[in-house]
Amino acid sequence: MNNLKNSEKKMDDIVRFSKEAGFVYQSSEIYGGLAGVYDFGPVGVELLKNIKDFWWRETVKKKKNYYGLDSGMFKHPKVWDSSGHTSGFSDPMAECKNCNTRIRVDKELEKIGISADEKMSEEEINILFDENKDKIKCSKCGGSDFTKAKAFNLLVKSNLGDFTSKESTPVYLPGEACQGIYLNFKNVVDSIHPKIPFGLAQINKAFRNEISPRNFLFRTREFEQADTQFFVKPNENKDAYEKIKKERWQWYLDLGISEENLKWSQHENLVFYASDAWDIEYNFPTFGYDEIEGVHDRTDYDLSQHTKFSGVDLSYNDNGEKFIPWILETSMGLGRVFLAVLSEAYDKEILEDGSERTVLRFNSEIAPVKIAILPLMKKDGLAEKADEVFNLVAGDYNSIYDDTGKIGKRYRRQDEIGTPFCVTVDYDTLEDNTVTVRERDSMKQERIKIEDLKKYFEEKN
Ligand code: ATP
Repeated sequence: MNNLKNSEKKMDDIVRFSKEAGFVYQSSEIYGGLAGVYDFGPVGVELLKNIKDFWWRETVKKKKNYYGLDSGMFKHPKVWDSSGHTSGFSDPMAECKNCNTRIRVDKELEKIGISADEKMSEEEINILFDENKDKIKCSKCGGSDFTKAKAFNLLVKSNLGDFTSKESTPVYLPGEACQGIYLNFKNVVDSIHPKIPFGLAQINKAFRNEISPRNFLFRTREFEQADTQFFVKPNENKDAYEKIKKERWQWYLDLGISEENLKWSQHENLVFYASDAWDIEYNFPTFGYDEIEGVHDRTDYDLSQHTKFSGVDLSYNDNGEKFIPWILETSMGLGRVFLAVLSEAYDKEILEDGSERTVLRFNSEIAPVKIAILPLMKKDGLAEKADEVFNLVAGDYNSIYDDTGKIGKRYRRQDEIGTPFCVTVDYDTLEDNTVTVRERDSMKQERIKIEDLKKYFEEKN
């Protein structure tokens, strides 16, 4: 349905557009900006919320054996020891000796076609780095003289409580959202008694001191993750894992992502405890395929670690049979999925009169605004009539009221934020109580009675 393929779109255009149209702004822009942090504007926040609601509905509400929770962001410092984050949550970093720009070595190696990742030891990565240093260029000065790669911990430290005391232990902002689920596993089992297998889901913030935040919302220092952890009996992981993979793939198609822009990628270097790990990748404009979600088969590692570090037994008792459940995890980055949705929907079209329109072809479920109410004029009672129409639909659909500028311009504005329907109130409305409904993609217009509007939108949605 789109005119432009992703290979014909440019990420720079999307970044510029998303600011101009009210989707995303750089954090603290009036102070020069804060790298790796973004704010969602009035249109963006609606899109983000719709993506979250769609995820929650499909993942929690529509499933008998999935339950939601929402954990506090701060956690006991030992949590991050148990999860391995204080010791091992790091990326290999090197510095340009000429201009001090920091690079993430595994990603730079990947860019020149060398298979590397953050799970390799410092020594392994330095061997590859030494062999290929002359092919890697500093993004700032173009030089190739770098320091050795060393592990750079990504956890963000914070203060909580009596942080002036010397004995106080640092607390960390969460490096990943899933720990809140593991910590509440026992609470959930003891309070609502779910029958295994079952899943727990939550959307929560994560913070990472990324060495080089880049590619807009793709690699940021603060982001949200939508996670599920599915608890199964030991060794009963394989079929459930395949089912979850299929469901996650379908979710993206239902979200409006085209299959030609999605692919699976299996991890080559598994962490020692994992049984299998796949990522779903999206074909982003300009920088191409990269991860938007990880689907991981994690065995009993997480609950075993927390049992060991907390001293509290986190096994599950299934009619007298006790075991530490195995976990199948899905972890989706909301910023990355937001960017995929925006990239997918972004389109340009040449109209019959030769002018160009930018149109965002969101599916109507996630469109930030569903209906725009546009009085042709502010005078002669049209505004009052348009108010009536607004009040009629606004409770059921996210609606916008716009009475500024020529009607053609107002249609373009709504096309740009992907509003599926515009409703125009004109002089005929005052005579016969009908309005013009214009559809975004076809731009077709039809005359509908105000009293039939609710039914009309019910059928269209
Ligand atoms: P990468 O290899 O790109 O650094 P990762 O493998 O470390 O990502 P996970 O720890 O598996 O990522 O996190 C799960 C999801 O969280 C990712 O699929 C991604 O969508 C999102 N995510 C991770 N890091 C970031 C980040 N810095 N900015 C935005 N989203 C992120």
